[in-house]
Amino acid sequence: MLNFKLLTCQEVATVASDYLDKHIDGKLGLNIRLHLMMCANCRRFVKHLQLTTKVVPHLVYKNQGTVDAEAVLKRIKEKR
Ligand SMILES: [Zn+2]
Repeated sequence: MLNFKLLTCQEVATVASDYLDKHIDGKLGLNIRLHLMMCANCRRFVKHLQLTTKVVPHLVYKNQGTVDAEAVLKRIKEKR
């Protein structure tokens, strides 16, 4: 259990783009996956992020760790 730390949703959101880019080392990556197993909100968020980063690379997410999820969702809707 020592290796596991419960991340908050905000922490997950902050590192999610790096996680998807595989810039996260093993232990933190594990903790993120653990959080995602338990948290449907973050699962959905990461899934959206994954889709969006494929469509719109590197736009919103490198801004000092803040993630503008609403702008992203708006962008996704506009694409349709
Ligand atoms: Zn969460």
